[in-house]
Amino acid sequence: MGTLETYEAPRSFTPNNVMYWCPETKQVKGSVKLKALKFVKLGLVKEVSGIYYISPIEGYNKTTYQVNGGCNCQGFKKNQYCSHMLAVAYFNKLNETSN
Ligand SMILES: [Zn+2]
Repeated sequence: MGTLETYEAPRSFTPNNVMYWCPETKQVKGSVKLKALKFVKLGLVKEVSGIYYISPIEGYNKTTYQVNGGCNCQGFKKNQYCSHMLAVAYFNKLNETSN
């Protein structure tokens, strides 16, 4: 999964990309990053007509979250940022590089 590690912070932050990063430090929080990578590695991110569906990690949770500009999980409501949003960012980055 070497290509995933090459994902870097954007040079400038806009309302569209800042949500992938911690609002205070502008960096991905370690645990969120690892969780996001896990979603991608396990093939839990699916895109259907521009909407992303993040299936649950077995034994971790049981909800499929929907990412469409925002996310419907508690973390996103609280922080405007969550592992699902980041998983989608990684997912898109991987598709970009492989195409
Ligand atoms: Zn979420």
